[in-house]
Amino acid sequence: MTYLSALPEPMPGSANRTLILSDLDVTRLLPMAACIDVMEHALRALAAGDAVLPLRTVLRLPGSSDAFALMPSLLTTGTDHAKRTSALGAKVITVFPGNDLTPLDSHIGVVLLFDGQQGRLRAIMDASSITAIRTAAVSGLATRLLARPDATDLAILGSGAQAMTHLDAMRCVRNVQRVRVWSRTPSRAARFAARASARFQCPVEPCFTAREAVTDAHIVCTVTSAREPVLEGEWIAPGTHINAVGASFSTTRELDTAAVRRAVVYVDRVESALAEAGDLLIPIVEGAIERDHIRGEIGALLRGDVAGPDAADDVTLFKSLGLAVEDLAAAQYLYARALATETGTSVFIGGVRHDM
Ligand code: NDP
Repeated sequence: MTYLSALPEPMPGSANRTLILSDLDVTRLLPMAACIDVMEHALRALAAGDAVLPLRTVLRLPGSSDAFALMPSLLTTGTDHAKRTSALGAKVITVFPGNDLTPLDSHIGVVLLFDGQQGRLRAIMDASSITAIRTAAVSGLATRLLARPDATDLAILGSGAQAMTHLDAMRCVRNVQRVRVWSRTPSRAARFAARASARFQCPVEPCFTAREAVTDAHIVCTVTSAREPVLEGEWIAPGTHINAVGASFSTTRELDTAAVRRAVVYVDRVESALAEAGDLLIPIVEGAIERDHIRGEIGALLRGDVAGPDAADDVTLFKSLGLAVEDLAAAQYLYARALATETGTSVFIGGVRHDM
């Protein structure tokens, strides 16, 4: 069950109640392998015209690199003549990169899920966990499509929440045998390596430089809050697949121009990439690449509407920005799983007329 034509009905007597799912509920109900399939359905729906989403609204907090973002979307089913809304919702989230020095997540908020029949607020879910899992799942999907089938050697640049979920996702889609991690703060790379080794029962090697981590890697995931490049094109071996995830603003990037220029580039959504992806926009402004250097969207690749890489030793790049429809599809899946497993807490919030 990954894509629903309508949200399932809650238990009798709970119809007017809103389900609350915590981070632990989300983590339990949304295993990575399932989420990769949910993301495939979400990006196929987007490519087929079955999703509506504006560019996200981002308020930058004055005098800081912190942000507050609103990401609404809806999913539809049916033909052009008889389209119905299956679910709608929004992620409301703060992004405070400095939180990585505290016990708090750098992304905090909720995903709101409404039904398309009566507009009922069906669920409120933790957004930190959904974001961590769905982002890595989309990278997993891109890796399944674009990385060499025999890829075993993984490099991760960054050691935060996304680093851990990306390791999980890469292991779901390829037979990962070697994992190297680099992080700006060496002690964090070492701590991540110890935690990840214990969690996945596989050796994870901390590296002192990013170059050391990526040399001869088959898959590279960049999952840092860096504003300037941490990955250089000349370090990348032929045939490498890169998931560039960390930079989400037009003025920030993790990859240098050479890395982007030598890669066949795919994105989650072209419109978002041309508005928000510094990794691509900075080389475009420099005149190093044209817009059509972006070969297409992952959803279009899934549908066969854009071509895959030309040769086995092409470097491929998936530039991820994160889309509201990914959160919505994850929430739709989680809601169905929560009802089926009687997970979560339901509360009465309102929305019912008391004069009838
Ligand atoms: P965390 O706060 O958990 O981790 C941040 C990581 O970035 C740490 O490893 C930190 O290194 C590193 N870092 C911070 N500043 C720098 C810098 N100037 N240079 C190099 N490394 C740096 O964040 P998450 O793991 O949750 O998210 C990682 C990135 O991914 C963020 O930028 C986030 O906005 C982005 N993101 C993208 C999504 C998408 O859909 N594309 C969705 C969610 C997040 P250290 O601790 O060693 O100092």
